[in-house]
Amino acid sequence: MPAAMPISPASIQNLLENQNVQQLESLAQAARKATRQYFGRAIGLYTPLYLSNYCSSHCVYCGFHSHHPIKRVKLSAEETDREMRAIAATGIQNILLLTGESPQATPLDYLKNAIRLAKKYFQGITLEIYPLSNDGYRELYLEGADGITIYQETYDRSRYREVHLAGQKTDYDFRRNAPARIAHAGMRQISLGILLGLGPLAEDLYALYSHLREMEQSFPGVEYSLSFPRLRTINSQNFAGTAVDDTTLVKILCLTRLLFPRTGINLSTRESAEFRNRALEIAVSRISVGSRTTVGGYLEGSRENAPQFDIADERDAEETLGYLRDHGFDPVFTDWRRIANT
Ligand code: SF4
Repeated sequence: MPAAMPISPASIQNLLENQNVQQLESLAQAARKATRQYFGRAIGLYTPLYLSNYCSSHCVYCGFHSHHPIKRVKLSAEETDREMRAIAATGIQNILLLTGESPQATPLDYLKNAIRLAKKYFQGITLEIYPLSNDGYRELYLEGADGITIYQETYDRSRYREVHLAGQKTDYDFRRNAPARIAHAGMRQISLGILLGLGPLAEDLYALYSHLREMEQSFPGVEYSLSFPRLRTINSQNFAGTAVDDTTLVKILCLTRLLFPRTGINLSTRESAEFRNRALEIAVSRISVGSRTTVGGYLEGSRENAPQFDIADERDAEETLGYLRDHGFDPVFTDWRRIANT
């Protein structure tokens, strides 16, 4: 499907329902070709670091939600520094800093301090945090943040209301407009996404693609990427949603690659090693490596606490890098050198 081809929720739905093996194989071949054309065998790498699991929002699908009786922890500056050093020792140079949505527990100054520490170890620093005002994003940018990951989860307003029960995250529009504020702040990377299985799939994909097109037109200088996390269990508990099977996810990755041939597609360790290995051959251009979804967790003896979701790919960084090299991929530790953001 060429990039210029008009799409609609109905045409996406048709593709999702299509069981014709030959047509799906052609789709995968076309996606594979586009990926090789624009990305070669280069695979960008990053590692997430959860700084805190404090959260004042109640999203029914998340292990950190405010009503979940888990031990709340956040890393001190010393702990953050130690965890970062451990991640950097694996060779990874891009870090994604995550928190729950609690401006009280992890205010702007806490985030800025984490960025200051990260600058000692990493070339690329992105954050996945609660949505901020223009000024808030600008402060993070000036401190040294390069990008922000923010998923709308579902673009369907009524479903959004059903699964976001309390806290700042209930504000659909403040979240929907965050990517524009992030771009205004000067960030060079923005990652958008939806949580597969949460809302109506074809409509959500269409809305995500439309959001990305809108951002590309308004802020053409930003580097965008897309993510398609599937709802996962948390400590083996199933919180909500409809299962999205492997074939459907592959169709989504292929469609996205063909519609947005130059846009990065990320795949996290929510997916199994086997699935990630297959997806790398078709459409994915960036993966997380050696992830832990507990707060901290990269150091021997670092504290045990509840994860945000259960990990499926449990390979450590060395194993994942070994796989990439053995299969002819070019692992990209950094395509960027830190400069002062002004
Ligand atoms: S998804 Fe984010 S905002 Fe919602 S409960 Fe989890 S950490 Fe909090």
